[in-house]
Amino acid sequence: MTDFRSLLRRDYPLPLVAAVLTVLNALLFHGPFFSYLTDHVQSSANGVLIWVSWLLILLAVNYLGFVLTLFLGRTVGKILIGISMVINAGCLYFIHTYDVMLDDTMMGNVFNTQYSEASSFASWSMLAYLLTLGLLPALLLGWVKIRYGSWRNFALSVGASLGGTVLITFANMPNWTWVDKNSTVMGSLLLPWSYIVNAVRYQIHEYDAHREEILLPDAVWVDNGRRAAVLIIGESARRDHFSLYGYPQNTNPLLNATERITCYEAESAATYTTAGVKAILDSQESDERYEILPNYLHRMGVDVTWRTSNWGESPLHIDQVEHRSDLQRRYGEDCPYDELLTRGLDSLIARSPSDKVLVVLHTSTSHGPSYYSKYPERFETFTPVCRSVEMGECSHEELIHAYDNTIVYTDYLVHEVIRQLEGLEGWTSTVFFVSDHGESLGEGNLYMHGVPRSIAPREQYEIPFIVWVSDTAPQPRPQAGVGQHHVFHSLTRFLGLDSPVYRADRDIFR
Ligand SMILES: [Zn+2]
Repeated sequence: MTDFRSLLRRDYPLPLVAAVLTVLNALLFHGPFFSYLTDHVQSSANGVLIWVSWLLILLAVNYLGFVLTLFLGRTVGKILIGISMVINAGCLYFIHTYDVMLDDTMMGNVFNTQYSEASSFASWSMLAYLLTLGLLPALLLGWVKIRYGSWRNFALSVGASLGGTVLITFANMPNWTWVDKNSTVMGSLLLPWSYIVNAVRYQIHEYDAHREEILLPDAVWVDNGRRAAVLIIGESARRDHFSLYGYPQNTNPLLNATERITCYEAESAATYTTAGVKAILDSQESDERYEILPNYLHRMGVDVTWRTSNWGESPLHIDQVEHRSDLQRRYGEDCPYDELLTRGLDSLIARSPSDKVLVVLHTSTSHGPSYYSKYPERFETFTPVCRSVEMGECSHEELIHAYDNTIVYTDYLVHEVIRQLEGLEGWTSTVFFVSDHGESLGEGNLYMHGVPRSIAPREQYEIPFIVWVSDTAPQPRPQAGVGQHHVFHSLTRFLGLDSPVYRADRDIFR
């Protein structure tokens, strides 16, 4: 013990401390990086070249980072590196447990996650990661005395590591296509660079997205009747687990027995919430911030209400936005489930001062990983269910049971809305259920969603698009190639508006 203390009391030259940190960083946090690398290079001389080059670049870049942060930051530098170790440990836990990719999209999810969602991930093994891989080395670093040396030595260290990085990079020129093809995944496994770079990228993107909304051209009314539409935005609902789409388990007992239901085999535009919801509400594919469906219809005189137990939608410029807490107060119910969103819809529509009503329900029912907590007990149709937040801990069957129960509950929610609209007299009405994206349930060892759309497995983008109409409404037509952008055009026209941006080829009623 005395020996250990005297080791800590001695002071060490900066290059040595940076070198130890570099090796520790590679050993503790880059297991997934090196196993990805090993899996994706050929077993040839060139494969070995790529592998060794990446190892050297990783070491050189991290060494450079540590030298710069410590020499320029001193105590602040130590604190920053300590914090990054704790975050690295947390990231490693998520990479190991959920196979997440720390790209800019995932950083967006992190910034948009509420405490309630984040806390559902907490577990003992996460705490163990944070303490042993993060806090312990961070405290040791805090303790160690560093001899920072002269500016001249600092310049030598920086020059050597920078020169080494450039040299290896250019020596590897023939392999740049391999790097390009694998860069997204590789980059996301480099800690702490993945979350630092991608957090900055995400914030730049966010700044961009919060520009003023570009207004769409005004529409004209071509129908005077009383029309109501309810758009239910699903969360992580994958199509192939709906018996309406042929799933062998009966996950849709109520909708299966409902008349005037049309199901489209749709695909989502993205695999994460903000982009999926944007595509459902937008008139076109665009990175620009065009006026979204509820804002546009509200401006045209439609009575629009937005009810949500979720988040991630673009800014709403309407009068009635109701969160779960508002509804709990109004209906005097402590209900933690999505059925709260459906309360009193019929009277909301019947009492409307307008002849045109749109209600959007932004649900959260199938959001992982705690599927078992998203439905009331009476909907636990399939058992036993997975009750752990670490999906790898459950049997595949238990996980599927928990997820399928959320679909059974979704079936009830959609049916409940239909039941209320069916009881409305004098209204022509429709109900849309469209999911924001799909969900992986362990296929190819992937869980949840968020894999970039271009390389995502089909489970993450094959979504249900279910339409019900009242008996006086136009019938939806069978169509192929239906996507989330069909919602805007179909509902605008259904409510009786003709807009210059309207596209008949995206109207399911045409
Ligand atoms: Zn989502």
